[in-house]
Parts: sequence; structure tokens; C-alpha cells
Amino acid sequence: MLGFEYVRATTVDEAVAAVTHDPEAAYLAGGTTQLDLVLKDGVFSPQRLVDITRLPLRGVSRIGGMLQVSALTTMEDLAADPTVAEELPLVREALLAGASTQLRNMATIGGNVLQRTRCRFFRDPGVAACNKRTPGSGCAAVTGPARMHAILGASERCIALHASDLCVALVALDAVVEIRGAAGQRTVPLREFYLPAGERPDRENVLEHGELVTGIRIPLLPSGARSGYLKVRDRASYEFALTSAAAALVIEDGVIVTARLALGGVGTVPWRAPEAEEILVGAPADETTFRAAAEAAILDPFTVPGTAFKVELAKRTVVRILQTVSRSER
Ligand code: FAD
Ligand code: SF4
Repeated sequence: MLGFEYVRATTVDEAVAAVTHDPEAAYLAGGTTQLDLVLKDGVFSPQRLVDITRLPLRGVSRIGGMLQVSALTTMEDLAADPTVAEELPLVREALLAGASTQLRNMATIGGNVLQRTRCRFFRDPGVAACNKRTPGSGCAAVTGPARMHAILGASERCIALHASDLCVALVALDAVVEIRGAAGQRTVPLREFYLPAGERPDRENVLEHGELVTGIRIPLLPSGARSGYLKVRDRASYEFALTSAAAALVIEDGVIVTARLALGGVGTVPWRAPEAEEILVGAPADETTFRAAAEAAILDPFTVPGTAFKVELAKRTVVRILQTVSRSER
């Protein structure tokens, strides 16, 4: 049986100190990822789990043109927020496309941003070759069955997917991560928060050991923007994305004035597509433009036999979400 100490933190400072000063400690939020990895799969064996669910970090508030989401807000509560429902359809649709109602009532926004990859080899300690779990050991997925893996940002060192739906919408919106550490508070744009898999697939984000995500700031869309999220998956619910896309457009007289586009199910990180956005802005909102944007969104894919189908599927996902959003009312 696995033994570890369970600690319930009551203040943010206490939680940060407890993990910062103990290299064997880790945070526990809703537990939907962490308990699988520690208790069920035995991927990690922290000596101490610091429960942060009693910290005063729940709730959503609108501050000017921004939504401030505290880290322990659940996925279900964020989806039910009136501003999200009215003004950020892409966020609401991404949230409700994720997991199941039961999971969304436990899973927190901070935990969603920090969820670990679903790569089956990473989650099976019996598999020796995994550069993310054991740096330098190789990558079993590159030669193994790899249907749910990444094609963008991937390499022979690691093709693990960042499987969050929410983060695809957040990266399209230029969300910012609020972080508290022993040295104080800092903010990092979500686009810079995740590290490219590169040489060190085990280093996934900019957090130092002990730093706590306290919230996410989501800039609201300009008035007149239309947005949405499309998730393509093997079954209609309770399944991770094969491909997905979040888009927000402002269209005036049939011409795209502003465009935001991000992809899921394909990247080692939630994948913003600036090259595609450049093609969209100033172009007519029609099929030819959307296909050109889709071609630009999937630049230099790295595929293995199991993931090759994603190249065309992702492009079609982009075309479909752009069509849907351009015809929607908000
Ligand atoms: P935990 O499991 O408690 O923690 C997750 C990780 O984040 C841990 O490493 C923990 O130490 C760290 N952590 C948590 N909070 C903080 C914080 N505030 N600061 C610093 N570190 C922190 N997600 C999707 O997007 N789409 C899906 O379709 C989907 N399907 C799922 C299906 C299943 C069966 C399961 C189990 C999960 C699924 N998920 C999906 C993932 C789910 O959204 C995440 O497991 C959940 O959001 C994690 O939140 P949590 O509060 O439970 O985090
Ligand atoms: Fe490990 Fe990444 Fe390879 Fe999966 S894809 S086995 S996480 S190195």
C-alpha cells in the first residue's frame, strides 16, 4: 500500500509554504487527475499531498473588460457563470464538452490548466520508455499505438497531447495565469505558460516547485464578436478530443475584421494559430478563406502512423468551426 501524508491547507501562504519547502509534496485540488496518477496508476509517489480545496479561491467576477476566475472554481460553475454564458460561448462550449457532469463538479479550473497528459505509456509505470516520466528513457508512443497523441509541437522525443478543452478556448482569448509563490505574486500569459516539449518533455510549464495557480484572467471579446468551440471525438460525450478548435470572429459587411483561432487534440500544448489568423483578417468570410486558414493552421506536423489522420481532420475541424461561427449570432 502506498503511504503519504495528507495535509489540508487553510490559507494560500500556508499551502505555498508547505509545498515549496518539501520537494516530495504536491497539491491536491479536485483530485480528478491527481488521485488517478498517485493512487490508481502509481505514476507518482509524493510523500505529502496538500489539499487546497478549502482555500478562499472560488468564484468568478467581472472587472471591466475582463473575467477574473479563481483557481478553485469548478468547471461546472464557470460554465454556469452569466458572463460566460452570454459573452463567451467558446469557453462555455469547451467546458461542457469536457469530461462528465460528475467530473466537472469536482474538477477545478486550476487543475484543468495543470492536468497531465493522457498518454497511456506515461500513465503506465510498467513502460520503461517515457521521456516525460523518466528523462532520457525514450518514447514508447512514437513506435506504439498512438491515436490520441499530438502532431504539432511533437517530435521523436515526445508526442504527448495536452488534452484540455478549456485551455484551447483560453489560449484563443489570451488568458493570463495568476501565480503565487514563496517570492510573491506573478502573472504569465497562458501562451507562455506551457513549455514546448523540445529537449525536456518532463518540463511542462513555467511553474517552480511550490508555486500555486491562484486564478485565470480572461479578457472579454469585443462587442459584435461571434465565437464557438467544436470538438471531434470518437463518441458524443465523456471522451477526449481527436481534434478540436475554438474560434472568435468579428465580421463586418462579409469581411473578417478580427480573428482568434486555437486548436486542441493536436498540440503538445493548447495550440494558437497566428498564421491562420493572419489569413482570416481582412478576407471575405467564405469557404475559400476558411480552407486557406486551415492549411496555415497545421504547419509542419510531426506524425506517426497512428496520428497521420489528424492532419486532414484538424483542417476540416477548423473549416467547420469557422463556418459555424460566421453564421452564428454571437
Ligand atoms: P487535480 O487532479 O487535483 O490536480 C491536477 C494537477 O494539477 C496536479 O498535478 C495538481 O498538483 C495540480 N494542481 C491543481 N490545482 C493547482 C493549483 N491551483 N496550482 C498549482 N497546481 C495545481 N478535461 C478536459 O478538458 N476535457 C475532457 O474531455 C476531459 N475528460 C476527462 C475524463 C476523465 C475520465 C478524467 C478523469 C478527466 C478528464 N478531463 C478532461 C480532465 C479534467 O478536466 C481534469 O482532471 C481536471 O480539470 C483537473 O482538476 P482537479 O481540480 O481535479 O485537479
Ligand atoms: Fe512519454 Fe511523451 Fe512518449 Fe507519452 S509521448 S510515452 S508522455 S515521452
